[in-house]
Amino acid sequence: MAVAMPTRMLFIDGEWKEPVLKKRIPIINPATEGVIGDIPAATAEDVELAVDAARRAFVRNKGEDWASAPGAVRAKYLRAIAAKITERKPQLAKLEAMDCGKPLEEAAWDMDDVAGCFEYYADLAEGLDAKQNTPISLPMDTFKSYVRKEPIGVVGLITPWNYPLLMATWKVAPALAAGCAAILKPSELASVTCLELADICQEVGLPAGVLNILTGLGPEAGAPLASHPHVDKIAFTGSSATGSKVMAAAAQLLKPVSLELGGKSPIVVFEDVDLDKAAEWTAFGCFWTNGQICSATSRLIVHESIAAEFLDRLVKWSKNIKISDPLEDGCRLGPIVSAGQYEKILKFIATAKSEGATILFGGDRPKHLRKGFFIEPTIITDVDRSMQIWREEVFGPVLCVKTFSTEEEAIELANDTQYGLGSAVLSNDLERCERISRAFQAGIVWINCAQPTFTQAPWGGSKRSGFGRELGEWGLENYLSVKQVTRYISNDPWGWYQSPSRL
Ligand code: NAD
Repeated sequence: MAVAMPTRMLFIDGEWKEPVLKKRIPIINPATEGVIGDIPAATAEDVELAVDAARRAFVRNKGEDWASAPGAVRAKYLRAIAAKITERKPQLAKLEAMDCGKPLEEAAWDMDDVAGCFEYYADLAEGLDAKQNTPISLPMDTFKSYVRKEPIGVVGLITPWNYPLLMATWKVAPALAAGCAAILKPSELASVTCLELADICQEVGLPAGVLNILTGLGPEAGAPLASHPHVDKIAFTGSSATGSKVMAAAAQLLKPVSLELGGKSPIVVFEDVDLDKAAEWTAFGCFWTNGQICSATSRLIVHESIAAEFLDRLVKWSKNIKISDPLEDGCRLGPIVSAGQYEKILKFIATAKSEGATILFGGDRPKHLRKGFFIEPTIITDVDRSMQIWREEVFGPVLCVKTFSTEEEAIELANDTQYGLGSAVLSNDLERCERISRAFQAGIVWINCAQPTFTQAPWGGSKRSGFGRELGEWGLENYLSVKQVTRYISNDPWGWYQSPSRL
């Protein structure tokens, strides 16, 4: 059963505030195409207020402020947020499913991950205090040096719509753990649960201004945040095209950025696999989250000796995927997030056909669903390396296939992309898997699986998939700056100007 969409305002300085220009954006349920509510639309005026609030909250070295509070104090708030997420999981999961179209069970899984991520960074916040003033060994005993890790400052966090609350949490939790104050700008296509996070922050009494949440359009709310002179860092997740704009804006002020961008990740299937196990992982790797995963293993590279039989099994697994309203029991593939994305994906499929590829399975709206932005899981064969479907990120449930005969050829095909986010290899020969894991040009390698992601392990890409790492200890480092403190400990004068003949 659906839940009511709360009507929310912007969250600035610990309070709900109407956007200065009073604009709102409709929320469209992608399963029904109906308007189910609206969210506030921030503009540069609201960004100004949020940045001011964050700067006041951040301060540093006043004793009472967020930045210089002990890690244990920050951890207390992060744990309280985690507990509230868990308490409200059924409602939050439904809101997420209705807002972005992901199957309810996946949304519930996301909420567990969100709570787990806040808890994990609560632990790291506590651990940070013990890691302060780490001594550095120097070659001169007249000096002592140590290192302090300090929060970078006020950070702008810009996030996408495919895991709305989870992607936001990957940034918010480590940023707050580090002692930064933040302004979160979620995607206009799915912001509902991020506004509920604001409600939770208010409930747990998070100090005002530590986290501000501005919903709104990219150019109107995201761009002024990226270029704001009092924002010390931007952490961005989204498309490579927008990532490039964000980086260009930040570059004007030499502002650091970390970028988690798109992908066109390969999955290489060798001839020695169990065909059904491998087919299920291949389907999951590309069709999970309605195919809207940055790391979707959307290029299948399968050994020619098993290709026909493997594709047969893959089609069988794909036929079994239940496509329905995300709130329906057992749904495994919901709608695409928006009309725009839906049209874009259908165009990708049409272009593949017109370029000479074969639609082996799917490629259309499922016959039993008249409304909603639904697309069948789609498998495309007879793919050429010059085709758009091989080269560009679709961000939908569309898998393209090529075959290989040798290991070298498989590696070459896998790395034939401008992206470098995920990669997967399926084989019973673990030595081979190890070799391939070294050869893949990607930030993440899955062996005999595809997509499982853990808060403790680093996440991020190479090539045009971005740089910087989220999650794990690396995620915390994103929001810390390193300060060297060096002390002269000798009682002797330095003596440089007293004895010119030191040599
Ligand atoms: P997008 O680039 O369209 O939008 C991302 C965010 O940027 C949104 O909040 C948007 O409002 C904002 N934005 C848009 N224009 C802006 C501008 N000029 N200045 C500042 N902000 C602006 O991406 P999307 O469609 O929301 O998400 C899909 C993309 O995200 C895919 O390419 C996917 O691969 C990528 N993604 C990557 C990861 C990862 O971890 N690498 C994770 C999830 C999604």
